[in-house]
Amino acid sequence: MAQFSSSYLDELISRTDLVEIIARHVDLKASGSNMMGLCPFHNEKSASFSVSVDKQIYYCFGCGKGGNAYRFLMEHDGYAFPEAVEFLAHKAGMAIPASRAVNPGEEARKKRGLALLAQVAGVFARTLQADEGAKATLYLEQRQLPLSIIQRYQLGFSPAGYGFMQRCFGDDKDMLQQLEGIGVLVRNERGYADRFRGRVMFPIRDKRGEVVGFGGRVMGDGEPKYLNSPETDFYHKSNLLYGYSEHRDAIRKRKMLVVVEGYMDVLAMAAFDLPYAVAPLGTAITEPQLRLILRLEAAPIFCFDGDKAGRQAAWRAIERMLGVLKAEHNPRFLYLPDGEDPDTLLKKEGQAAFEQRLEQDALPALDAWLKGLQLISGEGASGRAMMAKKAEKMLSGMGDDYLRQAWQSEVEKASGVALTHQKGNVLVAKPRAVKVQKRARGLAVSPLKHDRFMAGLLQKHARFSKLNEDAFEFFVDSDPAYPIYTRAFSLVGIEESTILDIAAQLMREFPDNHDIARWVNLPTVEDDEFDILLIDMQVSYLDDLLRSRSLGLAVKIRLQAELTTLKAQQKLYQQNQKP
Ligand SMILES: [Zn+2]
Repeated sequence: MAQFSSSYLDELISRTDLVEIIARHVDLKASGSNMMGLCPFHNEKSASFSVSVDKQIYYCFGCGKGGNAYRFLMEHDGYAFPEAVEFLAHKAGMAIPASRAVNPGEEARKKRGLALLAQVAGVFARTLQADEGAKATLYLEQRQLPLSIIQRYQLGFSPAGYGFMQRCFGDDKDMLQQLEGIGVLVRNERGYADRFRGRVMFPIRDKRGEVVGFGGRVMGDGEPKYLNSPETDFYHKSNLLYGYSEHRDAIRKRKMLVVVEGYMDVLAMAAFDLPYAVAPLGTAITEPQLRLILRLEAAPIFCFDGDKAGRQAAWRAIERMLGVLKAEHNPRFLYLPDGEDPDTLLKKEGQAAFEQRLEQDALPALDAWLKGLQLISGEGASGRAMMAKKAEKMLSGMGDDYLRQAWQSEVEKASGVALTHQKGNVLVAKPRAVKVQKRARGLAVSPLKHDRFMAGLLQKHARFSKLNEDAFEFFVDSDPAYPIYTRAFSLVGIEESTILDIAAQLMREFPDNHDIARWVNLPTVEDDEFDILLIDMQVSYLDDLLRSRSLGLAVKIRLQAELTTLKAQQKLYQQNQKP
């Protein structure tokens, strides 16, 4: 992946309005110098999601999610980093750096393709509403799909016979090539032919909500039951999920995601006010799809048919999942009664009973795994040995060491066989013993004050200039803030620093640290408060120094005097603070 320069990324952030990006999903209200709203990452009744307008950084005081516009687009909207950059660049009217835009013609061609896909979706949708679509409309009525759903998901119809695309778009050679490029025309020895004929059409959208392909279903019997777009520049079936862009917001709000097998299941659930289902596109679920799912919701439910094929599909899903599963995830598996799918069940038993099923009958992934292992391994001593053997092989592909150990101990219990596999054993890889501190830090400065101090610095980094060189040692290396603080120090120290915003730069360098966003979004540290904090930090530092190091007498006397002055100032401030 070509890299974006940090100056480009900074420039783009400075031209981006984070509030606007977030306001698409969150109702934000001004609160002090920040904007507050209900967090889109967790369920809450009172607002703890803050956006710093100055710093263009958000933070949730409830769940700890925080970051800049890139982070929001990645974590909330599911973009990959380059996609987030491209999205914002497009919005800000900035060109993509030449190294990324491989070929400017390429970009224009992609844009044309997406526009054409949207047009084709529109044509299919209008055809469904027209006389030509009467049979398809009747079919959808029989499937009890309400008109509101048909419209919202832009279902359409492709008439039987050939030549429909040409009738709609003309047969200019360039146009025919474009239609082939987006996968709706097929080229054979006799010329171009419609790919979709006599089918109900389901537009498939990417993460941005753009139509990138179609699924077409026959009405009644006929093969194949579903025909999807071929792989094109726009449509990559292993990276897309049906319902993803349509349901992303509802999934986040309700903290509920259900993976089903077919498009009709997704829509049936939406029709029953359960707009949180997604489906793979006619193939077994892939690793990239699993990543998308788990990034959107840590505890998704995978629905499978209760028959043999369904159990096999579930087993494949578990196998694929092991590499991406982390201890923070809690996927569950629901086996539906034999021959049923969410669509048929909802019609039979209604919404409440179906929701209850999801709630009560879904098995944790570990249980589903153990059950599956038992099923394929057989009974008796040799069955238990087989189980251990299979389990060991599968566990070796597991990405999260902690989770692997937990699952390993469960399978050892279930099989009665001790596994030997030792990949990156967690017990061995214990965190290093904490280094003995040069100085024992007294508790003179509370963690709360540390926090406010960091907030004060990052909210207004001109304050770094108030720090003297003692400040290098305000934090010891076991303090959580230590790496951030020292890095901030060195960033400020860069001569003629081009870094406009230290907080933004730090967030880029410490992408997993959430404190930076939190500090920026804490209630403003005013200058008065910061001055006191600085004295407190200084006093604490000198106190420690005098207590814990053997110093020459002259130095000791000088430091002692300094400390006395500071303590007097500290006292004065404290008195002034008291009402
Ligand atoms: Zn939150």
